[in-house]
Amino acid sequence: MYDNNNIFAKIIRKEIPCDLVYEDEQTLFFYDINPQAKIHILGIPKKNVENFNDFIEKCDPSEVFYFFDKAREIICNLDLNKTGFRLITNQGDDSNQEVPHFHIHILGGENLSGLR
Ligand code: AMP
Repeated sequence: MYDNNNIFAKIIRKEIPCDLVYEDEQTLFFYDINPQAKIHILGIPKKNVENFNDFIEKCDPSEVFYFFDKAREIICNLDLNKTGFRLITNQGDDSNQEVPHFHIHILGGENLSGLR
């Protein structure tokens, strides 16, 4: 069951601030508080979905496309499509997912060979 008190739910409700990259009615992109690369952006849909599986199951294909296309736009605005980037999502215990609201990590801005 979705936990309404997870930190990203609080960011969506503006109860805690974030370092905003982009926001609209459906999505929010902001800088990770503990960056693992020169550019480390988190992207979330505003719907209450816990993880990737939940996102795909509970959202319309148009919403899924909208979210990933918005990520693509942000990647292109930062020219990461030219230099390269990594897109990650963690789900469940084996991945050590910390925040139970579906999110993607966009990592780039430098060579990522130091990261596993
Ligand atoms: P994950 O392990 O995939 O659940 O990643 C959660 C990410 O959220 C981590 O990279 C954290 O550094 C990041 N994070 C946690 N709290 C905040 C916050 N208040 N603002 C921005 N990023 C956060």
